[in-house]
Amino acid sequence: MPLDLVKCGMCDKAVVIERGTKPVCQDCRQEEQELYRRVRALLTDYGDRRFTIQDVAGALGVEEKKITYLVDNGYFQLIRSHIMLEDNKRL
Ligand SMILES: [Zn+2]
Repeated sequence: MPLDLVKCGMCDKAVVIERGTKPVCQDCRQEEQELYRRVRALLTDYGDRRFTIQDVAGALGVEEKKITYLVDNGYFQLIRSHIMLEDNKRL
């Protein structure tokens, strides 16, 4: 499996990953999973509301880039219509 040198989507540190896997370092994997559950709970609780990435980041008190990372990596593809991407891409 070829390796890629990428930037961790959560902390911006350089990390070597197997190609095709998510760009997140070992230190951030647990935080990534916890954040995923928190965002998912928020979107589920307010299923009829439309959230921007800023809304989600603000509601959870986390950096926008981490929410962007989750969206960019397909964590929310099933409910993407609830997260308006617009000009929030920063990568
Ligand atoms: Zn990291």
